[in-house]
This record gives sequence, C-alpha cells and structure tokens, in this order.
Amino acid sequence: MEEQKTEGQRLAEKLTFEIKSCWETIGENDKDAIAEFAEQYKKFIDKGKTEREFNAECLSILKEEGFIDIETALSQGKKLKAGDKVYQNNRGKSLVFAAVGRAAVKEGVNIVGAHIDSPRIDLKTNPFYEDGGFAIFDTHYYGGIKHYQWTTIPLAMHGVMFNKKGEKQTVCIGEEESDPVFVITDLLPHLAQDQMQKKANEFVRGEELDVLAGSEPFKDEKVKDKVKLTILNLLNQKYGVTEETFASAEIEFVPAHKARDVGLDRSLIGAYGHDDRCCAYAAFRAALERSEGTPEKTAVCLLTDKEEIGSMGNTGAQSRFFENFIAYLCSQTVENYSDIDLRLALNRSAMLSADVNAAYDPNFSDVFDKKTASYCGKGLALSKYTGVRGKVGGSDANAEFLQKTQAVLDKHNVRWQFGNLGKVDKGGGGTIAQYAANLGVDALDCGIPVLSMHSPFEVISKIDLWTAYRGYVAFLKDM
Ligand code: MN
Ligand code: MN
Repeated sequence: MEEQKTEGQRLAEKLTFEIKSCWETIGENDKDAIAEFAEQYKKFIDKGKTEREFNAECLSILKEEGFIDIETALSQGKKLKAGDKVYQNNRGKSLVFAAVGRAAVKEGVNIVGAHIDSPRIDLKTNPFYEDGGFAIFDTHYYGGIKHYQWTTIPLAMHGVMFNKKGEKQTVCIGEEESDPVFVITDLLPHLAQDQMQKKANEFVRGEELDVLAGSEPFKDEKVKDKVKLTILNLLNQKYGVTEETFASAEIEFVPAHKARDVGLDRSLIGAYGHDDRCCAYAAFRAALERSEGTPEKTAVCLLTDKEEIGSMGNTGAQSRFFENFIAYLCSQTVENYSDIDLRLALNRSAMLSADVNAAYDPNFSDVFDKKTASYCGKGLALSKYTGVRGKVGGSDANAEFLQKTQAVLDKHNVRWQFGNLGKVDKGGGGTIAQYAANLGVDALDCGIPVLSMHSPFEVISKIDLWTAYRGYVAFLKDM
C-alpha cells in the first residue's frame, strides 16, 4: 500500500520544479526511435565535416524531396503558393529553405536556425615549407579552440582548390581507411620541462599548429626543398594544382575519426563538430518533416556559416542573406509587394536559434551554476539570454516569447531544461539569435547540451538530440 503523502510533500509537488532525466520518462518504442535517429545523424555528420560538405548533403536531400531553387523560380516569374517548397543555396556554405504555408508570409514565419561551421585548422594561403626533412603545411586555426587539443590526433584534409586551368577541385583525404592522415606533433614529456610551466594557451601556440605533410625527398641533387617538391608533385598529379594556385584554396584540417557511441549503455555520441551540426541536423530533419503536407505558417530552416568567427561575411548570419530570402518569399506570395510586407513579416516571425549549450561536467563542476546549467540527458536546453559579464552582447528573449515557446513544447510533451552558460562572470559566448532579433524576429536560444565543446571529440546525449528534433518540429508547427 502506498504511504499517504504529507501536506508538505503535496505542496512541494505542486509548487517546486524538478527536471528529471528524459531516459526515465520514455517508453520502449521511443528507445528504438532515439537509437535510429542517432544512427542517421552519425552517418550524416561523418559525411558532412565541413560547412561545404554539410551544405551539400542537405541540398541533395532537399532536391530529392522536391524543393526548388528560389532564384530559378524568381527568374521564371513563378509565383509561390501554399505547399511549395523552396531553398536558396548561399555559395555552397550556407543554406535556407522553406515550406510555404497557408497563412500569408507577412503574417510571420516560424524559423529554426543553426550554424554548420565548426572550429578547425585552416591552411594558410602560402602554406608550404620544409624543415628538418619534413614538408609542412602552415596553418591558421579557425574558431575558439584550446590549441593543445588539436595535436597528436589523426587529421583529415577537406576543402576546395583550383587547378591551373581554373577548375574547382574537391579535396577529401584521410576519411577512407586506406587514406593517409595528417598530424600536428607535440613535444615529448622528457623535454617539456619549460613547456609544462607555461599557461595552457601558450604551451602550444597558434603558430605552432602546423601539419606534417610528408618526408620523402625528391631525388634530384639540383633542387632545394626536396620534400616540399615531392608533396607539390603529388598534389599536382592528383589535382593539377601548384604552390601558386594554393593562394585561393580553402583547405580545412578536421579530426579524421568517425562519430562513435560513447559509454557501455551507448547513450552518448562522441564526434567532431557536434557544435553545431547536432542542432543543424535536428533542425534540418524537423523542417523536412514540416514540409510534408502544407504547414499553416511557413516553416523555415536557416543553416549559416562563420558563427565560430563572429557570423561575419556574406555566408554568416550577420549578412542580408536571410532577410533577402524572406523578402523573396514575401514578394512571390503577395500582390503588389512593398518593403512594408517584409518588415511586417520579420517583426511577426519567431525563431529558435538552435545552438549547443555547455553541458554540466562533473570534472569541472566549479564553473557551473547547477540550478541553471544544462545536463546531458535532460532534454532541450533553453537559454533566455547569452552574452558575457552583465549579459553583454546577448540577445535576451522576451518573457512573453519564452512562455509561449515553453507552452508549445509542453503541449507536445517535449522535455526542456535550463541552459545558462556557466556561473556569472566565468566567461560566456554568443550565437546567431541576436542577428535575427535585430531584424525584429522573436528569437530564443535553444539547443543540445555538449561536453568538451570545441574539442576534436565533443560528446552529446542521444536523447537530447532526439528531443531537440521533436522540439523543433513542435515549434515549426505551433508557434
Ligand atoms: Mn555553436
Ligand atoms: Mn561554438
């Protein structure tokens, strides 16, 4: 027989709030769906390790699903109607797509936005040198990394470059088992006495993150830098490139490992680039799902580049790219389009800025506020605000909007938790929410908790990935 609850217990149940692990609240069917979704995600991010690759993977699926290029539609004078599905590919690095709803675009659209660039090691524009019998790639890191984490792990070379004829060459070396990989070396402990005394951000400096490219000299007494010549020769044979043509290349070194299950219970996923491709994938899948049948409100998915370096540039969230897309949508769905239609549309729109959050880490508990931190396995993390120090630079979501979002998630039984980045004055960060909010859009940061963020092997929970996906579907449907 169940014991009678005391008055205090009943009151506590009614008035206090406790966030449980999502695993405790799901059924067996859900477990299969979670595992299946995780497998699909792992395959997807193994193929999409750069913004270009992720973009291309999404694009090929959109085309299969009947989405059409909005610029083609515009040039043919085609008017859009409810049920139409359109995309705009921005230079192969960022992407936006929409399922046109029954309601007019100027009444506002629902958006889920994420970024598809991740921290990595970029090649410099004049990258080759030789030293100590090695050919070496000179690099410049991209995004906020702890330098030392990127040494002594297998790296793969991804990107694009142009040959002498001006033809684009796509590069991907180090992903197949039979491929060679690349590596940034580190100093042996025996000689690291001085290095170990330095601060962590100095003991491997940015300029020291250079990548081993090879070591076999070209057999010819008459040339200098013989190893460099061997490497240039191999690259020339394969891609038709020369040292000079590297000036325009975009080559990124990323961890060569694949996404893997973590833990005996396989509840977690370790991979490179969860930030922010786990949210991007969940957003992509959610928007695809909403494009089946005709949504009431237009459902938009925005996948941006350059977030890790401040969202600048014409593929970043600070560009006019997103605004222009909404203008295109407006102009093709109303008679006598005017700029006011666009301004109204933006001001009436709602966006989830889908970006990862720092998961509570028991190894470093002192930087977290346990009451507002996000936890792996507890669902979708909502961050009312971001920013540093006194919330500086953050987009602080309005109470009204936050309440409405929570109500939509609750209605769809989507488990959410808090997601504030660390204790006050311990650091901070930003996302793309602020750039949408600056246009008048109601925007809320909301994403998946991640351990070891910006490291070569970040960790998320499978159930949070699945919960985020369900949350994004709910938001696109009912906001
Ligand atoms: Mn991010
Ligand atoms: Mn990041």
